[in-house]
Amino acid sequence: MAVPKRKTSKARRDKRRASTWKLEMPGMVKCPKCGEYKLSHRVCTSCGTYNGKEVIQVEA
Ligand SMILES: [Zn+2]
Repeated sequence: MAVPKRKTSKARRDKRRASTWKLEMPGMVKCPKCGEYKLSHRVCTSCGTYNGKEVIQVEA
């Protein structure tokens, strides 16, 4: 079985984690209409649009 030849240094390990871990939640995209973050494949909660059309009424 293949075994790592060298111990991964703290700097290398932390660098790897820093690049992989995203600041944004997975599945979060910016709404094309209002620019607010929303869950992809779901109606925008701040302006109520989906795929360029207003689907639900959002009270101001
Ligand atoms: Zn929106």
